[in-house]
Order: sequence, then C-alpha cells, then structure tokens
Amino acid sequence: MGQVPEKPQAIAVSACLLGRPCRFDGASKPHAGVIALAERFEFLPVCPEVAGGMPVPHPPCEIDAFSPVLRVVDADGRDMTEPFAEGARRCADAACAAGCKFAVMKAKSPSCGSGQVYDGSFSGTLIPGWGVASALMRERGIRVIDETQLDLLP
Ligand code: SF4
Repeated sequence: MGQVPEKPQAIAVSACLLGRPCRFDGASKPHAGVIALAERFEFLPVCPEVAGGMPVPHPPCEIDAFSPVLRVVDADGRDMTEPFAEGARRCADAACAAGCKFAVMKAKSPSCGSGQVYDGSFSGTLIPGWGVASALMRERGIRVIDETQLDLLP
C-alpha cells in the first residue's frame, strides 16, 4: 500500500499578491516568490477590503495613527473603519477555519500591512504598526509576514 501524501499546510495570502486586481486603485501586485509558494502550501486567498464590502477602485485609505481607537480614513476624510473591521473579521475567521498558522500579507497596506503602515496623514509617512486584518490574525495566533519575509516560512 502506498503512503498517503501529507496534506499541504494552508496559508492565508493577500489576493493582490497572487495577481487579483483587487487593490484600491484596481491594480494587482503579483509577486513571483509568493506565487511559487503554491508548490509547498495550499493558498487561502484573502482580500480584507473586498471582504468588507469596499468597492474596487476606492480612494486610498490609511489608519489614523493619532486616534486613540482604531480609525481608518480615506483620502477624502471619510471614516472607513467599519468596512475595514468587518473585512478583517471575515478574513481572520476564514484563516482560522482553514487552520492557517501563517499568513503572507501585502506590505504597508492599511488592511494587510505587516510591521509598517502609513500614519493617516497621506504624506507617505510610514510608522511601526499592522494592518487591520493582519493585527486581528495575529491576535488569533496566526504568524503574519509580508512578501519580503518569505524565508521565515517553514
Ligand atoms: Fe491586497 Fe490586502 Fe489591499 Fe486586498 S486589502 S488589495 S489583499 S493589500
């Protein structure tokens, strides 16, 4: 009797890194190194902003670093916190349900950023922090990295 092959580990991956045109500006950010991970992992593509009901395209959004509570604003000053929070919940729920221990999320995004995000001033200023979905995944025990840190995967 042959051995049953081990089921590949599932990882959550920002869908734009896999080539989906789901970014705020309607573009995608396909990343060859991330796409090549399909040989080792089962992908759970996630896009928290689409999952939260944000249209594509939409104005750029940033986390307001000067707010004492989570607040996401768009470049026109509108409060976008609820769709970001809802999309984060949906994607974190899906990642947990799929048994993901790792997530590879798009660097610097207000949803998917990993260790660095823009500060809410729309001036291109980066500060230490996590995107809304990445932060929630981390709270739920998922290790979140970005596309520049693929060597941290097992
Ligand atoms: Fe990519 Fe995340 Fe932005 Fe969706 S929310 S387009 S997955 S960076």
